[in-house]
Order: sequence, then C-alpha cells, then structure tokens
Amino acid sequence: MKKILGLLLFGALLAFASANVFAASYNTSTNWFDSKNVSHLNTIGQNIIKANKMPTTVTFKVTDNENMNTDIAATTQYVYIYSGDLKYVENDNELAAVVAHEIGHLVNGHNAKSSILNNAISSINPSTTTEKGAATVSLLKTISSNKVSKENDKEADITAVDLLSTAKYNPLALISVVYKADAAVSGGLLDSNLSCEERIMNIYDYANYNYPATVKANYKTDSYQKALNLIYANLKIRNADSKKLAKAKKEQEKLKKDKLKRVRNMAKSTNPWSSAYSLIQVSGN
Ligand SMILES: [Zn+2]
Repeated sequence: MKKILGLLLFGALLAFASANVFAASYNTSTNWFDSKNVSHLNTIGQNIIKANKMPTTVTFKVTDNENMNTDIAATTQYVYIYSGDLKYVENDNELAAVVAHEIGHLVNGHNAKSSILNNAISSINPSTTTEKGAATVSLLKTISSNKVSKENDKEADITAVDLLSTAKYNPLALISVVYKADAAVSGGLLDSNLSCEERIMNIYDYANYNYPATVKANYKTDSYQKALNLIYANLKIRNADSKKLAKAKKEQEKLKKDKLKRVRNMAKSTNPWSSAYSLIQVSGN
C-alpha cells in the first residue's frame, strides 16, 4: 500500500513538473531571440490569426527595431514584434496581448496611414527656406504624428481586445502589460503621448461593454489588480457625473458600430488604408 501511495505521489509530482515545463512563464530577462521563444511566439500569433479567420501564411518574428513594421514591404510575410514590448510579458495571455496589439496596427492599416500622412506633410513646403518655415513644418509633423499614433494605439488596443477574445486569450492581459510598460518605456507599445491611464480606461471600457463576463471573471495578476485600482477611481468620478457617463456610453456604442465595419473590412479587405493587411492577404492566397 505504501509503495502504491509512493508511486502515486511520484506520478503526481511528475505531472506537476511537466505541467510547469509547458506552462510558459517569462520575466524581464527572458531571451526573446532564443529560437524556442520565437517559435512559441509564432505559435501564439498563428493561434490568433487562425481563430480570427485571417490569412495564415505570415510568420511572427522578434526584432530589436521598434519601427520594423512601418516598412510596409517588410510586412508581406513577417509580422515583427518589438523585443522591448516583450519585456513586460509574464505569461501566454500577455504574450498574446502584445502580438494582438501589433496585428491591430496592421489590420487597421496604421503603418500605411502614417507613412502616407508623413509624406503628405513633407510635401507641404511653406517657405522652408526660412528658419521659421522649417520649424513650422517640423512642429506640424510632430503634432500630427503624435495625434495619429495616439488614435492608432487606441484603435490597435480595441482591435486586440476583439482578436484576443475570439482566440480565447484573456484581453485584460493587455491592461496588465500596458500598466507594467508605463513605468519604463520610451518607445514601442507606449511611444505615443497617450497616457497610460487613458489607454487603460479605453481598453477596460471597450472590454466591459463588449465582453462583460470576461471583465467580471477578472484577471488575477498583480499588475492588473493595481490597474483596477486606477480604473475604479476613474469610474467612481465618471459615475457621479451623468454627462460624462452618457458620453462614455455613446462612445462605446459608436465603437461597436465601427467594430462591425472593421470586421467587414477585414473580411473583404476593402479598407483603402489597409495596404499592409491586403499584402498579408495576398500572400495568403
Ligand atoms: Zn502601438
């Protein structure tokens, strides 16, 4: 009997050990260029793409160049994930969140949109021969690219929430990553001027409006619980103000309508900005 108990215990220990080997966990010193980790990241990317019925021939890679996907030519076959963003990833849900945010930029055609806008601004040449003229152009560039990246990040975030939910990853993990990244980052995921708090509220509101059961079920990590304190403080202020509350509700209704448009565009690839996505789709044929 003792022997059987001992064997059972040994078996249970083995099962526990192997479960831990396969339950991926990461920290700030994880080497994201290690081929095993890159391949795991690619698997997660493929899961998201397949679950969302998107073209499946792209490969996800890791890069230390945060602007890699801006070069549209480079996105035909590869989606690059910036290693700086991966520093804040601790589990598969969070890894999926970073990948989904990047896909969010691609499917909304942000890279194409930014480069077209930047070209348009560069072509405005108001007396650049004078110092003042040159300064105006450069200021104009900064202001509009900040505004675009702020809006782009918001859109990429809510697209990520949809992509993650469909692929059965916890979309609240994105809040966790954004919260952690806020402390240190000067580039990558938080390189826009959008404050961490604004981004977190945007993700939370969208998730809460579209996936209330997921939000209710919570996401039990330290950073998410800390982010929740921030969220609840914001909600308390908003709930006490009927005008603010009505505005927030209206915004979510609009986003829900836009979501249908986005999904339609994704399916038909008729979004004129979405050249990056059409390239992915073409290579998928
Ligand atoms: Zn972004």
